[in-house]
Amino acid sequence: MLKVAKFGGSSLADAVQYRKVKDIIERDPARTVVVVSAPGKRTSDDHKITDLLYLCEAHLKYGVSFDDIYEMICTRYITIRNDLGLKVDLETEFAELRREMRHGISRDEIVSRGEYFSARLMAAYLGYEFIDAKLWLTFNLDGTVDTEKSYELLRIAAEGRKVVIPGFYGVMPDGHIRLMDRGGSDITGALAAAALDADVYENWTDVSGILMADPRIVPNAKTIDRVTYSELRELSYIGAQVLHEASIFPVRRKNIPLNIRNTNEPDHPGTMIQEYFTEELPDSSFITGLAGRKGFSIITITKSGMSSKVDSLRRIVEIFEKYNVTISYAPTGIDCFSAVVENQQLDSRKYAVLAELQKELKPDDITVTEQIAVLAVVGRRMISRSGSSGRIFEALGENGINIRMISQGPEELNIIIGVKEADFNPAIRVIYENFVD
Ligand code: ASP
Repeated sequence: MLKVAKFGGSSLADAVQYRKVKDIIERDPARTVVVVSAPGKRTSDDHKITDLLYLCEAHLKYGVSFDDIYEMICTRYITIRNDLGLKVDLETEFAELRREMRHGISRDEIVSRGEYFSARLMAAYLGYEFIDAKLWLTFNLDGTVDTEKSYELLRIAAEGRKVVIPGFYGVMPDGHIRLMDRGGSDITGALAAAALDADVYENWTDVSGILMADPRIVPNAKTIDRVTYSELRELSYIGAQVLHEASIFPVRRKNIPLNIRNTNEPDHPGTMIQEYFTEELPDSSFITGLAGRKGFSIITITKSGMSSKVDSLRRIVEIFEKYNVTISYAPTGIDCFSAVVENQQLDSRKYAVLAELQKELKPDDITVTEQIAVLAVVGRRMISRSGSSGRIFEALGENGINIRMISQGPEELNIIIGVKEADFNPAIRVIYENFVD
């Protein structure tokens, strides 16, 4: 059994958090590969080390002294080291880095030191070996990860060892360090898990998993205990704040379960994400989660006889394509077609799109319904329970919520509902209260 455990910045903010991490690692001997972020905020008004490093680089670039910020960064690490009673010589490396910065090193190299020092300290504290990301995580020239080479290199480097790896950066073919997007340590963790064919990829953070609904709308929303990768994609597509696609892809491809856990509540099982679950929990709701977003419009084109013309849909879609407006959902009727689009994309091009639709299709009518919110009711168990959508619509109707659009895919993984923006929060609450609690 091998578990790759990735810890985010809040799990490494100070010595107290480092101790929690050690405790978690020692509870399970399968946790032999650890991936770390840079120290995050200790309190809400504190600073992330990564932000301070970016700031250092900006000072350097504009020729302003960066000494005070650099001092803050060094002190954070030295305090953690001293509080943990470690003997790592950071001072020599800090002095060397300062010298290099004065003589010009890249922004990516400077910022990557956040994860580098964090991993050095964690390796010493756990008694694990440190494996630098630049020894295995290799990018192609176009900035994509060379997974074949990276996986091979990590397999060789980590074989039979207990290791700590810094997240967030890797190396270009010419040896230069390259950063990933912000939050990239999640990607490093997923790549490490995929490279080593881990049994589980654990992502340790400061929340006990993904919630069934936005807590600002449903204050006591429960944690999703189990969710499939497809369900998660549906939820994040429409607005749930979950992991970046790139940090899911490597593990999903290898069918490795991803477990989101809370460093501050280690006994909580968190959220388990898998390709599928062979057995379902008996008492679980048919809903896995609810998510949604405001800021949509529905453009409806009506023209009698439209359904019998083979080219109508193509001609409509081509106009949207020409103006670079993505159609998020497309519910159709016999002689009408509706395009649900995001205002952000439509706004500046609205009249141009409408004019062209008018000219090209000569429809009987075109209407634009604004201030639409779209919500997705996601649940793999809906497929086995007939009448799920009927019950949802009934509950919304009974509560005076008018449905403006419905879309359900044949895979029955989700039901997409469009409502007026003012009805968005009430709709989420009605569905949650009726079918979850
Ligand atoms: N430290 C980096 C950031 O703040 C990367 C990470 O934490 O994943 O974005």
